[in-house]
Amino acid sequence: MAIDTHFLTKLGIKKFNNGTMTGLKSFKSENYQPSVSPVDGHLIASVSTTSPREYKKVIKAAETAFQTWRMVPAPKRGEIVRQYGDALRANKEALGRLVSYEMGKSLQEGYGEVQEMIDICDFAVGLSRQLYGLTMHSERSHHRMYEQYHPLGIVGVISAFNFPVAVWSWNAMIALVCGDVVVWKPSEKTPLCGVACMNIFQDVLQKNELPEGIVSLVNGDYRVGELITHDPKVALVSATGSTRMGRIVGSVVAGRFGKSLLELGGNNAIIVTPEADLKVVVTGAVFGAVGTAGQRCTTTRRLIIHESIYDKVTKALVKAYKQIVIGNPLDAKNHMGPLIDIQAVDQYKKAIEAIKAQGGKMLVPGGELSGRKYASGCYVKPCIAEVENHFEIVQSETFAPILYVMSYKTLNEAIKMQNDVPQGLSSAIMTNNMREAEQFLSAAGSDCGIANVNIGTSGAEIGGAFGGEKETGGGRESGSDAWKVYMRRQTSTLNWGKDLPLAQGIKFNI
Ligand code: NAD
Repeated sequence: MAIDTHFLTKLGIKKFNNGTMTGLKSFKSENYQPSVSPVDGHLIASVSTTSPREYKKVIKAAETAFQTWRMVPAPKRGEIVRQYGDALRANKEALGRLVSYEMGKSLQEGYGEVQEMIDICDFAVGLSRQLYGLTMHSERSHHRMYEQYHPLGIVGVISAFNFPVAVWSWNAMIALVCGDVVVWKPSEKTPLCGVACMNIFQDVLQKNELPEGIVSLVNGDYRVGELITHDPKVALVSATGSTRMGRIVGSVVAGRFGKSLLELGGNNAIIVTPEADLKVVVTGAVFGAVGTAGQRCTTTRRLIIHESIYDKVTKALVKAYKQIVIGNPLDAKNHMGPLIDIQAVDQYKKAIEAIKAQGGKMLVPGGELSGRKYASGCYVKPCIAEVENHFEIVQSETFAPILYVMSYKTLNEAIKMQNDVPQGLSSAIMTNNMREAEQFLSAAGSDCGIANVNIGTSGAEIGGAFGGEKETGGGRESGSDAWKVYMRRQTSTLNWGKDLPLAQGIKFNI
């Protein structure tokens, strides 16, 4: 499987296998980490990691840059983000390929991720003129009262491997128009995506003669993440990843009274009622379960199907799974690429063992794929298992293409099953019955951050606030009013009269 890697040079990743730059171009690094592609198992490059000493320099530069950036008018900050969006358009092909090659998702999904970055840039540009506060009537005469929003300072972004570029931009573009500066630690599994995004942003800053510390990159594993979470100079930590990581990050940041925004694991279900359109169900479920090889936080993990149509739906799914072509994700003929690494394959195999041990039955068997085409050792078969919702394995998130199916009798029971997991990210109901749809969306319906009707669980538009409840962490990022998390709110009252009326009618004889 020979892959043309010219796109790396276009993204400024030049020093092949010999170290690449971290965010601040002036840095020489002390340590390197390998970036290995799950597509063909090749070492793409060695990437410099950030030492504690270098981290301090990055933070110093970010602090200095914040002094300038916070005083740049918000619409002018938006103009920088607009230019970044244009630079992404120019680099979409190369960056999309890198996402696909380093992470293993299909090329279409790689391009899609870059498009999401472009979309959030557009959103942030508009937002830069709409960072509204409220005004309210003061109870005192000749007084004006209002609230305004100011930037927080340094925002630390810790991101997961599965959306190696989009998640950082959801955070960074909004934070930047809000006047914050951003320090990003990408996943240690996809560091080159971070380097590429940073190279493109640094070019924009340089052209505009702005300090490079406005956005910076720190590379490395959880230990570099810990430098951010323990650092009182980082006002907000936005962390995307597993619930295990979020539990640690949330408590460390809370312990120093910092702010955190947590986007953690999901366990997403689709309820299929007898009034569903079967074609929509199969398309939504297969795309949701198999897309990105089951490695999306919003991947469809559970299908809760009414008993009267259970056999029909599962048969249609088994048939659809037979058509799935697995292979090199850079080749558009393949529907599903590899898992991120061998450890992920191991987790997948252990989960299948656990399903069987806990009483589940495989409707479509799984397994690792072998042969030249799959030489990286990261390719697996998507599978379907018949289970019960309370099984321990079903209650936890396995980041792999394993779809659980189960049946229900009443909609109340189905909603209870849908909610009866520790996570609360995405959910859906497939029905053409208005009452069923409204019950699912009501306060007594889905308890998730995302609830869809006749759309699968996976993916989300950037215009809405994205995030989930319970062990998903409660954070909201991207669209709607999620920007408020990146700013501090200040209530101000201004007296333009000649007297100073005191509270509770207190008077001094002055
Ligand atoms: P992970 O938790 O292993 O790592 C995520 C990031 O956290 C990495 O950058 C890692 O280095 C860092 N990290 C880990 N431990 C840390 C610590 N103690 N302190 C500071 N940083 C630490 O997750 P992953 O395997 O990269 O990604 C998969 C997980 O991410 C899944 O659970 C998935 O559901 C979740 N995810 C959630 C969302 C969402 O928006 N809810 C989006 C994408 C992925």
